[in-house]
Amino acid sequence: MNTPLPVNEIFATLQGEGSFSGKPSIFIRFQGCDVGCSWCDTKHSWNLNSKSEVTIDTILKKESSSSNYCLITPKQIIAYIEANFKQIKHVVLTGGEPSLYNLQPLCLALESLDKQVQIETSGTSPLQISPNTWVVLSPKFDMPGKKKIVIENLSLVNEIKMPVGKPSDMLNLHKFINEYNHFLKDVEIYLQPLSNAPSAIKLCISEAIKNNFRLSLQLHKIINIR
Ligand code: SF4
Repeated sequence: MNTPLPVNEIFATLQGEGSFSGKPSIFIRFQGCDVGCSWCDTKHSWNLNSKSEVTIDTILKKESSSSNYCLITPKQIIAYIEANFKQIKHVVLTGGEPSLYNLQPLCLALESLDKQVQIETSGTSPLQISPNTWVVLSPKFDMPGKKKIVIENLSLVNEIKMPVGKPSDMLNLHKFINEYNHFLKDVEIYLQPLSNAPSAIKLCISEAIKNNFRLSLQLHKIINIR
């Protein structure tokens, strides 16, 4: 409970993606990612450069994206959330890549406050979470970081959110689902068009209908919220 975690920002908004889209949520964005997706829209969260470490107060007051982060304990996170967002019952752990860190104490502490915890992850490091954490796996294939999905994580997955920009992304997804069908057969699959680009949306609609998958538009980008 007292091991500090690198956090880029904590804020309240509406979840914009996947099965909880539209739900008021507290986002905790962790700093650090070694996957390296070329189209990543949070590249500022990749590097853990000590020159970017700032005070907790600075991070908690942050209102726009930057690579600044602070080291903050789960206990301090809980105190901040209780003081500012007590009414919100859904918490999203995101990044960066949150699987780089042991998040079990934080998840358990949040659940003790009657919060539901969701993690959004590429699954490229072993997940350290509570048993009740809702796991959204966003598979990343052949990225520059050469990271592979940790197979043990697949038994924890509740939802797949696949970023789709081109037909080869769908081929990768189908190969992955077929290979790990024993883990994923009951998991809802969401197709998320990269950057809400019209060509990607068109592809996702057609693939969703063809495969009985679901469409996840990035609602927060459409309505221009954080
Ligand atoms: S895993 Fe997520 S944070 Fe990391 S590079 Fe890919 S999209 Fe960005």
